[in-house]
Amino acid sequence: MAKVTTTIKQVLNYQDHHAAWFAANQVLFNQIAAFYFEVIQAHENVLDLSNQDALTALEQLTHTTKKNPTPAMPLSDIGKDIPAMFRRAAIHAALGSARSFSSHRAKWHKRKEKAQARGKKFTERPPVPPRSWKKSATLYAGQWKQRTGSSIVLKVWTGACWSWVKVRITGRELPADTEIGSPSLIRHGKQWWLHSPVEKQFASPSKIEKQVKTCAQTKMCAVDLNLNEQVAVCTVQTVEGTILATTFIGGGREISGFRKKQLGRIARNRRKTGIIVEGEQDNVHLWGKINHVDEQIAHRVSARIVQFAREHEASILVFEHLGNLKPSRGKYSHRGNSKRAFWMKGRIFKYAKYKAYHEGILTSRVNPRNTSRECARCHSLVARYAQGMSAEGYTLGAPLVLCSQCGMRGNADRNASLVIGQRLIMRYQKSSQGKPQAPLLGERGEKSPGGEACQDAKSEEGPSLPQARHAGCNEHGTAQDGSLRMDEHLSDIPYQLRVPFEL
Ligand SMILES: [Zn+2]
Repeated sequence: MAKVTTTIKQVLNYQDHHAAWFAANQVLFNQIAAFYFEVIQAHENVLDLSNQDALTALEQLTHTTKKNPTPAMPLSDIGKDIPAMFRRAAIHAALGSARSFSSHRAKWHKRKEKAQARGKKFTERPPVPPRSWKKSATLYAGQWKQRTGSSIVLKVWTGACWSWVKVRITGRELPADTEIGSPSLIRHGKQWWLHSPVEKQFASPSKIEKQVKTCAQTKMCAVDLNLNEQVAVCTVQTVEGTILATTFIGGGREISGFRKKQLGRIARNRRKTGIIVEGEQDNVHLWGKINHVDEQIAHRVSARIVQFAREHEASILVFEHLGNLKPSRGKYSHRGNSKRAFWMKGRIFKYAKYKAYHEGILTSRVNPRNTSRECARCHSLVARYAQGMSAEGYTLGAPLVLCSQCGMRGNADRNASLVIGQRLIMRYQKSSQGKPQAPLLGERGEKSPGGEACQDAKSEEGPSLPQARHAGCNEHGTAQDGSLRMDEHLSDIPYQLRVPFEL
C-alpha cells in the first residue's frame, strides 16, 4: 500500500470573543514550546533519543507528579493545570525546532572546519535559535471532540481558564476513506482555520516497467514543456501507439510579458540607485510579485496536466529531462526572463509529479535529445518552420513541422510530446530486446552522447544532459496553427517501436 498525506483546510465560524481565546491559546502554546526548547538546550542529549523517549525524558525533567515531586525545570513556573495533551503537542513542536536548529548548527560547524582546514576565512554567521515563536497549536486527541461534517468542539485556553468551545466548520469536507490526524488551529489574517492532515491509503501503482511491458492498453500522458505561448502540450497515447487526445495549455506569452515588465522595473530601479548592497535583497516587492505569479502558474499548469491525464485515464506521466540552462544574451530583463521560464519548467515537473502521485499516477522522465527534431511517425529528422515560410531547415521555436520522409505535418510541440511518450516505451522495449536502438535517421554523422535515442533507464532523477532541446528558447511566442493535420493514428509507426508482448 502507498499513502499520501494532504491537509484539509476549513474555515471556522465562531463568536467574536472566541477569536481572542484562540489567540490566547496560541500564545500559551508558544510559551510552552519555547520553554521546552530551553529545556532541550540545557539537556542536549535528549536529541539523541527517539521522539517518544525524548518526550518521556522531557516530562521527567519538567512535570511535577507524586513520584517526581521536584523536577529539574518545573513547567509549573509557566502555568498550572496545563492539559497533558496540550503539553505534549508543545513538546513535539519544540523537539522539531530543536532538531532542526541542532542539524543546522552541526552543518555550520562542518563548513567552518572545512574552511579553516583549507586556511580560508570563514565569515558565515552561526545559526541562531528562534527569536520568536509563532507556531500554531496542534490539537491532540483530548483537546477536541464531537467532530461532525459541520462542527467541532475544541478545548482552548481563554487567557483565564480552559474552556470547551463549539465552533462551526465550513469549506471542504473531509474525504470518507481516510484517516484524520490531529487538527491545528491556524490564523490567516483575522480568520481562524482548522487544518486537518488526512492520510489516504491506496494500492501502490505497479511499476512503470511492468505497466508498459504487460499491457498494450496502458495509457500514458506525455508532456512537452515550452518557453513559448503553449507552456505545456500533452498527448495521451497507449503503449501500442494509438493517440487518444491532445491538449494545449497556454498562457506563456502573458506570464513572459508580465515578468519582463517587472524585471525591466528592477533594472531601472537599480540603475537609479546605482548600488546593490551585498547580502541584501533589493526591490523586494517586485521580486515577490514575480515569484508569486511564477508559483501560481506552476501550480495551475501542473494541476491542468494531471487533470488531463486523469480524464483520459492515463496511469503514467512522461516528461523529458530539463537539461542545463543555457544563458541567453541580451538585456537584463530578457536574460532574467528566460532563466525564470526555465526554472518554472522544473517547478511544473515537481508539482505535477506530486499531484499525479496523489491520483495513483507515476511520473518518469526521458532523454530530451532531439525530441523536437524527430518525427513521431517515422523518426526521421523534421523540418521546423513558421506559417508562410518554406517548410525546410530548422527554425528554433517555430510552430510547425514537416517530415519529408513520411509526409507528416503538424504542430511542432505536439510532435515533440508524442516523441517523448514513445521514448518511454522504447526504453523498455530496448531492455527487453537487449539490443541497442538504431541511431536517428539523418543524424548518424552527429556525435550523440550515448549513441542511442533513449538511455537513462534506471533513474527518475537522471543526470542533467548537456544537450538540451530548445536551447536558445523562444520567448516571443509563436503563432498557434489551429488545425492539426498530424495523423491521429500511429498505426504506421515502424514495428520496432512496438513493445513485444509475450502471450
Ligand atoms: Zn516522418
